[in-house]
Amino acid sequence: SSYSTGYYRVPIMGAHGVGKTAIENRFMSSEYMLPNESITDEFDNRTLTVVVDNEESTMEFIDFLSTDDDDLSADAYVVVFSVHDSDSFSLAEGFLQYLRNELYSDRPIILVANKIDLVRKRQVTKEEARQLAEEFECKYIETSAVLNHKVDELLVGLLKQIKLKLNPD
Ligand code: GDP
Repeated sequence: SSYSTGYYRVPIMGAHGVGKTAIENRFMSSEYMLPNESITDEFDNRTLTVVVDNEESTMEFIDFLSTDDDDLSADAYVVVFSVHDSDSFSLAEGFLQYLRNELYSDRPIILVANKIDLVRKRQVTKEEARQLAEEFECKYIETSAVLNHKVDELLVGLLKQIKLKLNPD
């Protein structure tokens, strides 16, 4: 059969309150998610299984700020900031600097600008965020967890980046 499976560890990083939990909750109601395939472990890491392109993938999302899980291995990283909070953008830059100097420095990173529904409170422009993503060779996506805008695209894009890294051809 052409059906295959993978298991991927994905730290999700970002300041408190930027929407990391809200994004994970949206992943759980995604059309790609297998019913009842979600586990929360002793470190509060959440593992979910999705089917994309006839491939089953299990992703373990790790909250690096609150977990006691000290396994630093990763298949990809998600770095989230909120467009209405410039401090969270500065922290995201700090995470990118850290990750690109670290043991798994060649792993795909997706920079996520969340809360784009807060248009009039926006403090971080698309241009400056894109520039940061380019500087650190990350993918960039703008989401709203509240409106469920582009959250599925983030999930599918994440898997695509992981698989491209594992099978460059
Ligand atoms: P975390 O600390 O990064 O896990 O952030 P949470 O997921 O707990 O979200 C913090 C607050 O921001 C909550 O009140 C969420 O409802 C809100 N929030 C999350 N995503 C969005 C979004 O896309 N737009 C808006 N307006 N609020 C959001």
